[in-house]
Amino acid sequence: METVYGVLGTKCGGTARIVFDNVELSEDTVKGGVNIGYDVFNIMMIPKRLTTVAGSVGVAMAAIEIAADYATKREAFGSKIIKHEGVSFRITESLTAIHEVSSLVYTASKAAYLFKKKKIPYSYVRKLVLMAKLNSTEVMWKAVNDAMQVLGGIGYTTIYPIERLLRDSRLGMIWTGTNEVMKMIIQHEFIKEIKDREYFSTKRKVELDALDFDLKEEKVYE
Ligand SMILES: Cc1cc2nc3c(=O)[nH]c(=O)nc-3n(C[C@H](O)[C@H](O)[C@H](O)COP(=O)(O)OP(=O)(O)OC[C@H]3O[C@@H](n4cnc5c(N)ncnc54)[C@H](O)[C@@H]3O)c2cc1C
Repeated sequence: METVYGVLGTKCGGTARIVFDNVELSEDTVKGGVNIGYDVFNIMMIPKRLTTVAGSVGVAMAAIEIAADYATKREAFGSKIIKHEGVSFRITESLTAIHEVSSLVYTASKAAYLFKKKKIPYSYVRKLVLMAKLNSTEVMWKAVNDAMQVLGGIGYTTIYPIERLLRDSRLGMIWTGTNEVMKMIIQHEFIKEIKDREYFSTKRKVELDALDFDLKEEKVYE
């Protein structure tokens, strides 16, 4: 059974709930083998999340370019609005955030490639992709929101595509796992890593730099 819904944005992607109930499949139609669906899902989510990640950078940049161009043309109260720091700093901050997150996106994409070549473990690439998804979708949302503010009222209309980018971009923080879930998995991975005996074996343990690092009786955890 399938129910198709209307959605706020991303109108080109049909959205429906698909229910599988008592469906029998022959073994040769099962992807990767029986009872490994969880692994298949996790690996599939690497490219799936990366499409959102890369798209987020593109949407954010497009929005900021439109806003910057508009601000150089629009005159209010006798001067171009780009002359106001309240306007230009919005653009600067979003632009800087986009460039920052682009580096993370590149690193995550490179990690996915290295994982495919079996050169790095799954847990490492997953963490990077999750961080990139978390960060890029939030940067996109902020950039589009900043762009709409720079355009003022006209940005809210269909004369410029910012209203559509705003509707489309909201989904980034929800689908392929919400950003809260991204945070949850990232911290699980990190705690697992630092609890691994090997973790501090290759680095200086900065905790021991404290002047009184050896006062064990002061390290009370309960
Ligand atoms: C347009 C659209 C297209 C989609 N396309 C697909 C698709 O192609 N394939 C697919 O499989 N799915 C798809 N989805 C589903 C999407 O991935 C889910 O909606 C998303 O993962 C969130 O799950 P949920 O809706 O069940 O939210 P819930 O899990 O019910 O979460 C609701 C809220 O609770 C929070 N929350 C839940 N658990 C925790 C926790 N442990 N800690 C903190 N906060 C928590 C969430 O962050 C969220 O804020 C699509 C959804 C939409 C809207």
